[in-house]
Amino acid sequence: MTRIHLSPPDVGRAERDALLDAFDSGWIAPVGPELVRFEHDVAARLGLPHAVALSSGTAALHLALRLAGVGPGDEVVVPTLTFIATAAAATYQGAQLTFVDADPTSWCIDASLVEQLLDERALQGRLPRAVVTVDLYGLCPDYARITAACANHGVALIEDAAEALGTTVDGRPAGSFGQSSVLSFNGNKIITTSGGGMLLSDDGELIDRALHLATQAREPAAHYEHEEVGYNYRLSNLLAALGRAQLAGLDERIASRRATRARYTQAFADLDSIGVLYDPEGQQSNAWLTVITLDPAATSVTPTDVRLALEADDIEARPAWKPLHLQPAFRDVEVVGGAAAERVFSTALCLPSGSNLSTADQDRVIEIVRATVLGTSA
Ligand SMILES: *Cc1c(COP(=O)(O)O)cnc(C)c1O
Repeated sequence: MTRIHLSPPDVGRAERDALLDAFDSGWIAPVGPELVRFEHDVAARLGLPHAVALSSGTAALHLALRLAGVGPGDEVVVPTLTFIATAAAATYQGAQLTFVDADPTSWCIDASLVEQLLDERALQGRLPRAVVTVDLYGLCPDYARITAACANHGVALIEDAAEALGTTVDGRPAGSFGQSSVLSFNGNKIITTSGGGMLLSDDGELIDRALHLATQAREPAAHYEHEEVGYNYRLSNLLAALGRAQLAGLDERIASRRATRARYTQAFADLDSIGVLYDPEGQQSNAWLTVITLDPAATSVTPTDVRLALEADDIEARPAWKPLHLQPAFRDVEVVGGAAAERVFSTALCLPSGSNLSTADQDRVIEIVRATVLGTSA
């Protein structure tokens, strides 16, 4: 038996052909027709007019924050329950972070806490420069309330949709709620370019600026003229070709991940101690990862017990994101609430969810989870 990974790349013949075709076309540098097409195709999928393909989601977040005018000492509001990249990008700009707790249903940033925080800051006369939301595990926060609160106070909203490509909220795509939004095509995401990301917006000027900054802010002159300092953040044309081939199969990948989640849910339905993270009302998520929770009131078995039992059978499972306010790197950052995120961290476990997970392999996972929780041996 081979190792079962959490969310491995799902690539095949189509990706290999696309990559080699791009290679044979001679466009090897981070410029070329595949980049333009990839940007167009992803933007069309999100119903947005403009996009720039970048070397990572983190690079996209960094540009989004810089273009929102975030500079040294500016406050940036970030959910505490997320991957470090969301906050790291603000740190690159010298921003002052404020972490906000998770909504107990969606696990995304708590909309009422965002509303309260912005109202409070408005009274103090020191509004944050930006709020960054994260569409966590493919689910979205309450955007009706968050977009309204940000608009009321004139605060920029940046959407980190790295985990949520393909999710919709009342039919509207994740990645279309922020002034600018960010996707990741890292190896573990629902589609991959091996590494890569994208910044999208309906503001064409913002995307033009992002492209300029992502290519060392080079002015059109033979001698490499620079009026400002940029970055080397552009995606390679080869990887854009890989991304386009992946995007063509996005709907099948979503269907597969949703079927996997439904199968886990069915398999644990008789166990009161196991819950499964599910789409809030109105949302149709991409089910990027199936995340289960173990109710400590119903079982003394912990997520660590289950994870180690799976690991003993060469199966990869992972705890939920460790809240950023508990990370040593952010020990001095203010947090609003935090108990909901801590509860997620102590009770949740992400199960293998790749779109190429076979039912036989999923059965192995299910058997071990059940046996561990029931205290029998698998
Ligand atoms: C993966 C991820 C990112 C960063 O993406 P990279 O492409 O790996 O830089 C940012 N935010 C969240 C929530 C992610 O899951």
